[in-house]
Amino acid sequence: MNGTDNRQEDPSAGQLFDTAIIGGGPTGLFAMFYAGMRQMRTLLVESQPFLGGQLTALYPEKEIYDVAGFPRVQAAELVENLVEQARAGNPDAVLRLAERVTGLAAGEEEAPGRPLWTLHTDQGQYLTRSVLICAGIGAFSPKRMDQPGVRELEGRGIEYTVRNKEAYRGKRVLVVGGGDSAVDFALMLAPVAARVTLIHRRGEFRAQEESVQRLRQSGTEIRLFHELRRVEGENRVTGAVIYDNRTQEESRLDLDAVVIGTGFAANLGPIRDWGVELEGNQIRVNSRGETNLPGIYAAGDICTYPGKLRLIATGFGEAATAVNNAKAYLEPGTAAFPGHSSEKVVKAR
Ligand SMILES: Cc1cc2nc3c(=O)[nH]c(=O)nc-3n(C[C@H](O)[C@H](O)[C@H](O)COP(=O)(O)OP(=O)(O)OC[C@H]3O[C@@H](n4cnc5c(N)ncnc54)[C@H](O)[C@@H]3O)c2cc1C
Repeated sequence: MNGTDNRQEDPSAGQLFDTAIIGGGPTGLFAMFYAGMRQMRTLLVESQPFLGGQLTALYPEKEIYDVAGFPRVQAAELVENLVEQARAGNPDAVLRLAERVTGLAAGEEEAPGRPLWTLHTDQGQYLTRSVLICAGIGAFSPKRMDQPGVRELEGRGIEYTVRNKEAYRGKRVLVVGGGDSAVDFALMLAPVAARVTLIHRRGEFRAQEESVQRLRQSGTEIRLFHELRRVEGENRVTGAVIYDNRTQEESRLDLDAVVIGTGFAANLGPIRDWGVELEGNQIRVNSRGETNLPGIYAAGDICTYPGKLRLIATGFGEAATAVNNAKAYLEPGTAAFPGHSSEKVVKAR
C-alpha cells in the first residue's frame, strides 16, 4: 500500500490511545491486528510513506519460504495480506504514514507507577497508555562501498537492493557479498539476468544454508575469496575488476549492473535517547516483551533477549506476546491470553 493514509487530519487532536505502535513493518502490522482483537484503541506511526518495512523497502519481489502457513510467498504479497488482516482486525486504528516518531516522554500517572506517555513525532504529538516499539533496525541504510567507480555510478548501474528484477532481464550482473542479502539478490536475478556472478571475500557464506544450496543450483557463477577492485563505466556501469584476495590475481568482467549486498547499517536514531535499555542496536525485553520502562514494549528486529533471531516469524510471535501482555498491564486482572481468534474477531465485527 503506497501513499499517505493518514486518517486523522490533526495529529494532536487529543485522543488517548491504549497503545501506540511505532513502525509498520510485518511486526507492527501483526501487532495492530492483535491490538484490535484485544479492543485496544490503537495508533500506528510509520516513518516511510508505505507499510511493510524491510519487505517493501528492500525486497518486495523476493520469495519468502519461512513464514508459517506459506510454503512460498512473495514479500509484497505477504505485506498485502498483513495489511488486509490488520485493517480487518482493527478497523478503528489510526494509521499515520510518512511520520517519524522522534521522542517519548512520561507524563502524569494514571495509577501509581503507570505513566501516560507522550509520543512526539515530526508532525505532532499523541497521548498513549502504552507503546509498542516495532521499529526494526531503525532508519536503515545500505553499507556503501568506496572502491573507485562505485560512488560515481550509484544509481547508474550500481544498486544496493533489487526492487524490480525485470529491470535486470537479459543483463550481466555482479552481486557483491556473502550474507543473506547478497545470496537473495543473486537468487532473484538468476532466472532473469543473462549472467549472474557473485563474489564473496570469504570461503564460507553467512547466508541460510538452504538459500546457499539453491544458489549453487541457480546457475550463478560463484567466486569465493574474491573482492571488488573497481567498477568501470562513463555514464553507466560497463564492467568491473575483481581480484582473488589470496593471490591478488585480477580479472575483468563485462557488466551491465552491480548489486552490492553487503548488508544494511542500522541507526536507532532518536530511540537511543528514550531511556529504554539497549544492547548494541537493539532494545532489551523480557519474556513478556516489556522493556525497562513501564508500559513500553518492543517486538521484532528491534528487540533482543537470549536466543533472539531476527526473522519475520519470530517478530509475529513477539508482537502477539507484547500486545497481549500490554492488555493485561492496562487492565489489571485481565488475562494476557487472548482466547481464540475465531471467537474474538467474529464477536468484534
Ligand atoms: C534482503 C533481506 C532478505 C530477508 N529475507 C528474509 C526471509 O526470507 N525470511 C525472514 O523471516 N526474514 C527475512 N529478512 C529479515 C526480515 O525482513 C526482518 O526480520 C523483518 O523485516 C523484521 O520486521 P520488523 O517489522 O520487526 O522490522 P522492519 O521490517 O524493519 O520494519 C520496521 C519499520 O519501522 C519503521 N520505523 C523505524 N523507526 C521509526 C520511527 N522512529 N518512527 C516511525 N517508524 C519507524 C521503519 O520505517 C520500518 O518500516 C530479510 C531481510 C533482508 C534485508
